[in-house]
Amino acid sequence: MSFVVTIDGPSAAGKSTTARAIAQQLGWRYLDTGAYYRALALKALRLWTAADDQAATRLARETRIEFSGDPSRAHVLLDGADVTDAIRAPDVSQGASRIAAFPGVRRLLVEWQRTLREREPLVGEGRDLGTVVFPDAEVKLYLDADPETRARRRHAELADRGLAVTLEEVRADMRARDERDRSRADSPLKPAADATVLDTSGWDPARQVEAALAVVRAHPRFPKGGDVPERAGT
Ligand code: C5P
Repeated sequence: MSFVVTIDGPSAAGKSTTARAIAQQLGWRYLDTGAYYRALALKALRLWTAADDQAATRLARETRIEFSGDPSRAHVLLDGADVTDAIRAPDVSQGASRIAAFPGVRRLLVEWQRTLREREPLVGEGRDLGTVVFPDAEVKLYLDADPETRARRRHAELADRGLAVTLEEVRADMRARDERDRSRADSPLKPAADATVLDTSGWDPARQVEAALAVVRAHPRFPKGGDVPERAGT
């Protein structure tokens, strides 16, 4: 089995930045599990379908979700079409957390996610990676930050993408999504018992990545010489 690093936590806690940077620096596979739920939610929104578990699971079975490109510019393909930007819209975020509460959908998507482990070391991010998808991962990180920090980060990120939403809208959106993710019956968001929790409030991205990489490198089975020197620092 290959070396696995899981990074879980609520929205805008710094998971993506950290997971991408680690994958880039070590030359490992990057797994964005949220993108699966987002892509499926986008399809459901477009088709006005998947109102219950059965319909959503049927839709998932008829769907192809793929990734291309390196971790810093990973593209998401939904049935062959590039949906990298479309899946970041706020209505898709909400749709993703609704569809992610369906057990049938989760079972199928978790199955797809697990198949990626066989091939190479990976760093994955999501909500249930340390608790459900890879419970025996070598390194489990749980990133968190206070709600106001997270709301400001997400607001800035959406503004960068040209999406005009107010900070208040972002706060409300995040509150609703976090609440749904934490309270669902199947695979709720929570730190694994053996996770290292990092509070990133007040940290810049470089500090986050440094702290996470220190935990990964300290693992006794960390593949020595695994760094990719030409990519270091990206
Ligand atoms: O991480 P991201 O914000 O892209 O995830 C979108 C939604 O997908 C989350 O709010 C959550 O409901 C769901 N999700 C999940 N399990 C994962 C990853 C994401 O339930 N492993």
